[in-house]
Amino acid sequence: MQFTDLGIDTRLETQLAHQGITQPTDIQAHAVPTALAGHDIFAQSKTGSGKTLAFLLPAVQRVMKQKALSKRDPRVLIVAPTRELATQVFTQLRLLIAGTAIKAVKILGGENFNDQIKALRNDPQFVVATPGRLADHITKRSLQLSGLELLIFDEADRILDLGFTEQLKMINEQANHRLRQTLLFSATLDHAQVDALSRNLLKKPKQITLSAANEQHSDIKQTLYLADHLDHKEALLEHFLNQDDVGQCIIFTATRADTSRLSEALNAKGFKSVALAGDLTQNKRLDIMDSFSRENFKILITTDVASRGLDLLSVTHVINFDLPKHAEEYVHRIGRTGRAGFKGNAISLVGPKDWASYLAIKAFLNDELKFASIESLKAKFKGLKEKKPEAAWDKSKEKAAAVKKPAFKRKAKPKKPTAPIKAPMNIDGDTPMRRKKKPEQE
Ligand code: ADP
Ligand code: MG
Repeated sequence: MQFTDLGIDTRLETQLAHQGITQPTDIQAHAVPTALAGHDIFAQSKTGSGKTLAFLLPAVQRVMKQKALSKRDPRVLIVAPTRELATQVFTQLRLLIAGTAIKAVKILGGENFNDQIKALRNDPQFVVATPGRLADHITKRSLQLSGLELLIFDEADRILDLGFTEQLKMINEQANHRLRQTLLFSATLDHAQVDALSRNLLKKPKQITLSAANEQHSDIKQTLYLADHLDHKEALLEHFLNQDDVGQCIIFTATRADTSRLSEALNAKGFKSVALAGDLTQNKRLDIMDSFSRENFKILITTDVASRGLDLLSVTHVINFDLPKHAEEYVHRIGRTGRAGFKGNAISLVGPKDWASYLAIKAFLNDELKFASIESLKAKFKGLKEKKPEAAWDKSKEKAAAVKKPAFKRKAKPKKPTAPIKAPMNIDGDTPMRRKKKPEQE
């Protein structure tokens, strides 16, 4: 199948071919025609399965081919939970619109507000934004959304987790007209909170669920190691980082302070690591991501600020130095590797403090987790017995309850798009990705 078979312009197809992208992935094959037909979409598919193009392609196609509702207001608004992710989506968008007259601006927190006002006065058709700063512009009336045609939320559940409900309401109200189309995308959309959000935002949505949030990712090898204490975790970490098969690696810690501390400890041992600590300026954060994506250093140490969306194809290993509290963040963290059909490894260190999180993740993933050990670094810790339920547990129960409920209140089961999509399927029912060459780094 070709992109043109999905209704995508040959010009865009050529642009994709330059990036080595020639065949749509499963999510693209489903979402692109559905979006072009004007439906609202609620789409869930695995990490690294190509969701960005699944929403960008129909958006660019629409702006290229259809008449605008308003000459001044943006036509497409894409909201992403973090600045890093918004920047990445913006970069992908700019590649698609290169050589056209289409204008796009990026509106992020931490950057100069007045510069953004000026950029918005240029009447861009596309705005890519993080929710907080976007809401500021709406309040100050430097951004009007009454002509908005397409509203897209990437990692929609994360935007809610971050507590941007009020901002979402405001955006929704500002762009509340009959013709607005709304698309929600994530790898983990099936929790109760999202259900409520989608009922407010979406009109008769088509639900495209290509994998369950808790389904195992066939390209990611997951292994857990028990650890007694911090020093033991560091010894294990050093062992893993010294393995030959480690290309680039992302290490997740529980707190921001831990990122800097661990980075210093690793650098003292001769590794080349950098911490994406939360107190850095916006420019510094983006510089670090840029430098990491150019493979200037091997190890990035971060918190959940980088768990979502970031697409770095040379990441061979994700190491959870500490486990995340929420099970769905585990899915996103490990999804920083094993992307676009490449294989990846996810290693998690589980100490006494991680045990409650471990149980929550295990329950969420239906027991898909395997422990291993390194002969010279075996732990005395064997897990905690019968621990009282904790916050992390509650979340998984909430999810279990949410799964039983249908995602939308409707009589019939939501239909998948009717046109049969004939793509080569692998064993998981996903279209294997084909890439001719690595995309050029920007
Ligand atoms: P997701 O949002 O589902 O996690 P992304 O949109 O970030 O995934 O895409 C993951 C990677 O796959 C990116 O590097 C992207 O360029 C690549 N990709 C996307 N679509 C295709 C395709 N049709 N063929 C090959 N590679 C693709
Ligand atoms: Mg994504």
